[in-house]
Amino acid sequence: MKSGELLLAEALYLEDSYLKECDAGVASVKDRKYVVLDRTLFYPQGGGQPWDTGRMITEGDQHKVVYVGKFSGEISHEVDHPGLEPGDKVHCMLNWDRRYRLMRSHTAAHVYASLVCQGTDALVTGNKLGEEKVRFDFSLEEFDRQIFKEYVEEANQLFMKDIPVKCYWLPREEALQIPGVIKMDEALPPDIPRLRIVEIVGIDKQADGGTHVKNLKEVGQIKFLKAINKGKDNRRVYFKLLP
Ligand SMILES: [Zn+2]
Repeated sequence: MKSGELLLAEALYLEDSYLKECDAGVASVKDRKYVVLDRTLFYPQGGGQPWDTGRMITEGDQHKVVYVGKFSGEISHEVDHPGLEPGDKVHCMLNWDRRYRLMRSHTAAHVYASLVCQGTDALVTGNKLGEEKVRFDFSLEEFDRQIFKEYVEEANQLFMKDIPVKCYWLPREEALQIPGVIKMDEALPPDIPRLRIVEIVGIDKQADGGTHVKNLKEVGQIKFLKAINKGKDNRRVYFKLLP
């Protein structure tokens, strides 16, 4: 199996981002606290989206999941204390409040970037999603705070509409034909035969491995915080998710 396909079988959040609990088996443990499971619902840090936290429950013990990362194609969970062994059965529980806020802010980020990129000739050069705050770097010659603020208001209009967010897989070649499907270089894993597409119907299509809400109505509203001139062509924008 290619690593891309292996990942599909393991990463349950790619198929269902609303899954909050699952059973799994411990495949390996490194340095007593870095745990690889045979399947997981914990999102590993990547693509601008922070890692999930939560718990792994075994008979008689409970481990907190404090960090999740992807290393050499494997999803590694750092737990708060040793004790887990290969072959152990664990019940995984996501810190859902944190994940759900990240799903909302991640989806908001798609809409905002898509409005800015369509309305100007900006390109996204970086982004960082937080539970509350979202940061974007745009490559854009002009600097006009008002414009960045107006796109927030425009996005808020869309978050009041019933607009579905779909998620599906396409063969790599077919996916790459979609205009603007790759927003940033790092978003494209080199060895994956199928790409996961996140489509906000009528607004945006992206190759993307993150977690999103299934309808724009779930995002809620966002608030413009600031726009900073970071030098030649680099415009940094912050907005936050309202509770
Ligand atoms: Zn995304």
